[in-house]
Amino acid sequence: MTVPRNLEVLVTSVATDLMAVTAATSSEVSERVLGDLVAYFDVDLSFLRHHDHRVHTSELVAEWPPRPATAAPDPLKIVYFSDADPVFSQTERLSEPTILRAEPSEATGSRGSAVVAEVPLRSGDVTTGVLGFVKFGERTWQREELNALRAIASLFAQVQARIAAEDRLRYLADHDDLTGLHNRRALLGHLDSRLAAGCPGPVAVLFFDLDRLKAINDYLGHIAGDWFIRILAERLQQGGDEKFIARLGGDEFVVVPAAPMTADAAESLAHRLQAVLRERVSIDGEMLTRTISIGVAVGRPGCDTTSDLLSRADQAVLSAKGAGGNCISVFTDRMSEEIALRNDIEMHLQNVIDSGALVLHYLPEVDIRTGEILATEALVRWQHPTRGLLSPDQFIGVAESINLAGELGRWVLRNACAEFARWRAAGVGERIVLRVNVSPVQLVTEGFVDSVAEAMAEFGLDRGSVCLEITESVVVQDIDTTRVTLAGLKEAGVQVAIDDFGTGYSVLSLLKTLPVDTLKIDKSFVQDLGSNAGDLAIVRAIIALAEAFGLELVAEGVETDIGARTLLHHGCHRAQGFLLSRPVPGAQMERLLAEGRVPVHFA
Ligand code: C2E
Ligand code: CA
Ligand code: CA
Repeated sequence: MTVPRNLEVLVTSVATDLMAVTAATSSEVSERVLGDLVAYFDVDLSFLRHHDHRVHTSELVAEWPPRPATAAPDPLKIVYFSDADPVFSQTERLSEPTILRAEPSEATGSRGSAVVAEVPLRSGDVTTGVLGFVKFGERTWQREELNALRAIASLFAQVQARIAAEDRLRYLADHDDLTGLHNRRALLGHLDSRLAAGCPGPVAVLFFDLDRLKAINDYLGHIAGDWFIRILAERLQQGGDEKFIARLGGDEFVVVPAAPMTADAAESLAHRLQAVLRERVSIDGEMLTRTISIGVAVGRPGCDTTSDLLSRADQAVLSAKGAGGNCISVFTDRMSEEIALRNDIEMHLQNVIDSGALVLHYLPEVDIRTGEILATEALVRWQHPTRGLLSPDQFIGVAESINLAGELGRWVLRNACAEFARWRAAGVGERIVLRVNVSPVQLVTEGFVDSVAEAMAEFGLDRGSVCLEITESVVVQDIDTTRVTLAGLKEAGVQVAIDDFGTGYSVLSLLKTLPVDTLKIDKSFVQDLGSNAGDLAIVRAIIALAEAFGLELVAEGVETDIGARTLLHHGCHRAQGFLLSRPVPGAQMERLLAEGRVPVHFA
């Protein structure tokens, strides 16, 4: 280092050094400047301290010579003015440079008495810190020297103020106004660094979503809503575990535990936090509780991106909310498979309907006393180019959610009717009934009855040969529309069956007045018949009901001999199920119809 020639050059060189300082370089540059000053003024040590008047402390920010990294922690790093020795305590409100003699003490080291020069850092009327110089033995300070120190202290004070302002700006850019928690931007930055290759993993993310916050905002006002959110934010911060917490706006919070964490551990953390958040909050004398849905996902550093991880946590919370709220859901491979499938289906479904990738399989319905085939149920499948044959449960829900159920249903109805007509033209299946499943959306669509009647007319199918299967829930949801539709179908000679009977809202009270022909006992009651007494009781009740109302009865999902025997024993002889036949492609159904029966041996 070249020692400046005179005070003026010294001040200029310090000013140049400090001008370029940033928050990141400030302690290093300050230290270097102190080193220059120690050399120039020929003293033994120098220190720079910042005061925090809110808590009445003074913190060491730089010193020369620097403390060796191996040294014990500095006991004077933070000093409380209330219990400091005179060297420190008088600096709290120091306004002018002061020289004092210090006896051997902690502040000066124990090398005998010393002369200490203290120069305040000032911002307006406030002393924001102190610049100090220690010379062991004797030293006299000239007025010009002290004036130069005053100028240098003011340069340090400016840097201090600038960095504080920058910190504040950075804080505001990274934090949420309402709660003081981190914001989305900070969360993204945090996750980016946590997911960098080589970082410890897995990194867990807990996504919190308040159930029905809207009700608080609507009924108690936004101030109450904000207050409620602030309390939740405080509660989230409690608890020992170190964690990064962000609010994404609205009622969404994200917690990232500082420690690597498996999905299982993150799930139990979610349970603990959920319990804390569920405790009641008093607002305006009202005790409020709001349940919370939590989605959990984990990411592997070096493999997953921040957006992967957040979207999984988001999916998990959606599934938690979908399960009725107040629920914790962990993102699973299954969920990611479902999302991929869903996206895929959404993208391709429209084309699928026109492209010939849909196929119909048929499930025979059999008289289990004789094996005679009485009906056949059309079941749609999607021959997917890469995923194989997809079952309707995998894509009908998606089709409904993107308003394709109507189109899909029309395709099924027309194609089933067409195929059925071909069989009949070939002389098979003339006495059997074709059953077609109808989704709830279809049933309430305008013109539905006409479109069924048209299809039957177009393919020359006589009255009573087609039966539509509808579920209980749709009947109950919109009873007036259903009543009109069912009456229309009846008039057009279309039969109606209630599918999955026993699982939905009970339509018992409506059965009497609705034009329904058949009940299909849901397979969940049939599969374990013979071993489950509860199921048997339900099945017997449904059998009695069908008799009382004069309805046909079909048991679905017959898988075992004992099940078939039990049904027969209680008077139900129409059934379908894997024991009798799997769903089969159309050509095979045609062959079965030509034979007219499947082998049975239960009677
Ligand atoms: P569903 O109407 O209850 O149809 C019976 C389902 O049970 C079929 O599944 C059939 O393969 C299966 N099944 C038959 N026997 C047994 C058995 O013994 N054990 C078991 N475990 N299952 C048996 P699939 O074909 O996967 O159809 C599932 C559901 O998708 C159907 O249930 C129906 O609700 C719906 N679906 C099928 N095709 C259509 C359609 O064209 N339109 C609409 N809207 N829904 C359809
Ligand atoms: Ca069905
Ligand atoms: Ca069913």
